[in-house]
Amino acid sequence: MTADEILAITIHEFTEQDYVFKYLINNIAILDYDYITPCWCWQGNLRGKGYGMCNLHGRFHQKPIHRVAFILWKHPIEEGNQIHHLCRTKSCINPDHLEEMTVQQHHILHGEGNEP
Ligand SMILES: [Zn+2]
Ligand SMILES: [Zn+2]
Repeated sequence: MTADEILAITIHEFTEQDYVFKYLINNIAILDYDYITPCWCWQGNLRGKGYGMCNLHGRFHQKPIHRVAFILWKHPIEEGNQIHHLCRTKSCINPDHLEEMTVQQHHILHGEGNEP
């Protein structure tokens, strides 16, 4: 589904997934940080490490917003796995910029002592 199609859905047709999609699309700024494609930067509050949190009630309440975006656009995240930002912009939720990996893979990628 494209952003325009999501925004065009009327409220009575909403599934939970449409509702969360619309919440995501309505709260991003599309910013070009010289990655392959522009980042979709979360405009809501960011937590200490720079990640946005989902404030919708329900299944995704208080989940990191990039993980919610990954699950909705891609697939469920395997237990214990982390999501890496290929674009290195922590507030970004562009599914093309997100990659699932194990904690070990993620630590190797960022180097010892560096925050993912
Ligand atoms: Zn990005
Ligand atoms: Zn990472």
